[in-house]
Amino acid sequence: MKPSLFDYCSPQSVGEVVSALSADPGAMILAGGQSLVPAMNLRLASPTRLIDLKNVAGLSDIVVEDGVIKVGAMVRHRDLELDETAHAANPLIREMMHYVAHVPIRNRGTVVGSLCHADAAAEMPLLLVLTGGSVTAVGPDGTRDIAAGDFFQFHMTTSRASDELILRANIPVLPDGAGYAFHEFARRQGDYAIAAAGAIVTLDSSKSVTAARVGACGIASTPVLLEAVEQAVLGMQLTDEVIETAARKAGDAVTLPDDMHATAGYRRHLLAGLVRKALGEAAERAAGGPVA
Ligand SMILES: Cc1cc2nc3c(=O)[nH]c(=O)nc-3n(C[C@H](O)[C@H](O)[C@H](O)COP(=O)(O)OP(=O)(O)OC[C@H]3O[C@@H](n4cnc5c(N)ncnc54)[C@H](O)[C@@H]3O)c2cc1C
Repeated sequence: MKPSLFDYCSPQSVGEVVSALSADPGAMILAGGQSLVPAMNLRLASPTRLIDLKNVAGLSDIVVEDGVIKVGAMVRHRDLELDETAHAANPLIREMMHYVAHVPIRNRGTVVGSLCHADAAAEMPLLLVLTGGSVTAVGPDGTRDIAAGDFFQFHMTTSRASDELILRANIPVLPDGAGYAFHEFARRQGDYAIAAAGAIVTLDSSKSVTAARVGACGIASTPVLLEAVEQAVLGMQLTDEVIETAARKAGDAVTLPDDMHATAGYRRHLLAGLVRKALGEAAERAAGGPVA
């Protein structure tokens, strides 16, 4: 299929982008085009105007400052994946990025574009939720930060206003001494997750958990934190039994109905296994041990 007719503009500044968005409620931002262009070809999206970000200055920087990795709107997945400063600040990024589509798509697609697209099975939205990150939006009334938990509202729906550009993603650095891990089940490498889980844990000198963030995607209409799992491991030493008991608590977070990929029961089964693996590896890393 072909897209419906649309206008195109290529502004050079953030101000021009905001003006163009304000002038036309049917306009859409074009970043890497890896999700929007297929959606247009399928007529799932019919923007009246595409506002291309490619010539807008200052959107391609990755800056680590004040405990945050700031990822500009035109930073491609692959740029962030290969950035050594970002990797040193938070190695979970590269671990999760490996699962995002394939290299040619990661060469074009942007991190912020993935956040704005807000596919409930995508890895970057889960990364933002799991790390407690945010996005910075700019619109006619100025800029505002939107916490990840407030940004993702539903599958492919965010709290971004139609006249706002997302300027950057703000991904917190990994806390000192924290262990991390991410595991995903998909039909093929590079497919969206049928279910995926990540964990960030910090241990004290007796190897008891002092902080835990555990999250999942592909199981609900947005990426979610698995609070029942987090509560079950807090203050505990992560023995096999503790991890098993905690992982079983993940199932209630599965709210997607049966679909062509999996039944809800199968997703619950998958999620428990993925959480078990993620928690176990995160604990090993926090303790400075090997990850199998
Ligand atoms: C075959 C295939 C497999 C894929 N597999 C995966 C996968 O396994 N996991 C995964 O996470 N992704 C996957 N993707 C999607 C890929 O990661 C996309 O690159 C990403 O979702 C969108 O990034 P983009 O820069 O291409 O955005 P675009 O397609 O340009 O835009 C996507 C949406 O975000 C909006 N937007 C973009 N940037 C901004 C901004 N700065 N401010 C406001 N709105 C904005 C656009 O208007 C549009 O609505 C896959 C894509 C393909 C084609």
